[in-house]
Amino acid sequence: MSEIIRINENSWRIEDGHVRFFLLCGSERAALIDSGMDTPDARSIAESLTALPLIMIYTHADRDHISGHAAFDKAWMNPAEEENFRRAGGTGEIVPLEDGDVIDLGGRPLRIIHIPGHTPGSIALLDVNGRFLIGGDSVQDGNIYMFGPMRDLGIYPASMRRLLELSDLYDEVWPSHGSFPVSPELIPQLIEGAEKILAGEAEGTLFEAHGNPILLFRFPFAGFLRPLPEE
Ligand SMILES: [Zn+2]
Repeated sequence: MSEIIRINENSWRIEDGHVRFFLLCGSERAALIDSGMDTPDARSIAESLTALPLIMIYTHADRDHISGHAAFDKAWMNPAEEENFRRAGGTGEIVPLEDGDVIDLGGRPLRIIHIPGHTPGSIALLDVNGRFLIGGDSVQDGNIYMFGPMRDLGIYPASMRRLLELSDLYDEVWPSHGSFPVSPELIPQLIEGAEKILAGEAEGTLFEAHGNPILLFRFPFAGFLRPLPEE
């Protein structure tokens, strides 16, 4: 059972177990940002909160973010995410969101920032007037999945640096997992952690994900899940 929490006048978060997604309303339309892991009725939930026309935007398309996809004809996402979306069973026509695009919900512009690494088409959304960033799985204090197909820790620090360059435009980050909200001060810490792992300077502990042994690199601020080194 998902829990609906109003954040402010025109924003909600929907807590769906270990993942959360968001409803943002402008004056002309509303946007769901992701649709949960176990919430096929995400659209109905959104429509119970607003009468505005609704679009479906994805921060990325891992299985735990798209459970409400079937209720929408169109899926707004970075085109590099389509493969992941289809693998997870996602249906509908892709509306491409490129880096720098601005979606206006009516007096509420959302700027798209492409931040590949966790997945190829991961994006962050900057609510320009609200001064917050929705970071998907890439900016959070839980464990960030960086193993398996389509993960690339090597390009993740550059994506986080792009967010840092824009840090005078937002005051908080709304993540998909872990604490809500988190401070932008987490971003340089994530860069440092990722770079330590890449340089072989961090120690992982054995961890199990869906029956497979992997490594958890846990720092005080967040963790990264990585494949076991190849023999
Ligand atoms: Zn996730």
